[in-house]
Amino acid sequence: MNGDEKTPTGPETIKETIDVAKTFECPNCRHNILEEIQENVTIATEVSSINVYESEYKEAIVEKVCGGVEIHGSGIVKYRCKNCGLSIREKNRIIKEIEGVHKYLSINKKIEEEPIIIK
Ligand SMILES: [Zn+2]
Repeated sequence: MNGDEKTPTGPETIKETIDVAKTFECPNCRHNILEEIQENVTIATEVSSINVYESEYKEAIVEKVCGGVEIHGSGIVKYRCKNCGLSIREKNRIIKEIEGVHKYLSINKKIEEEPIIIK
């Protein structure tokens, strides 16, 4: 296992797609949005146009319109619950790679409660 990300292109075929929002449940607050936290990143954005407005005081207001985003040199620090910030862990280690997240979700799969139907 390593932290390299694999993009399913070329001859590789997708074996399984995990819908994280349907699989993840925060053990602390039960929310289902998992976010990846990165640091030491450089974000490159294409500047596609510049809009210039005139304010009510006749000052020019310049606004940029950006296109595609590229992230360089990313270092994943952790995966955490978007709601409460709890980092997901394997034993006591903070998970920093997507393979670890996959394993975590396989073990800690959210259990959908069956609705009780009274007839
Ligand atoms: Zn949470």
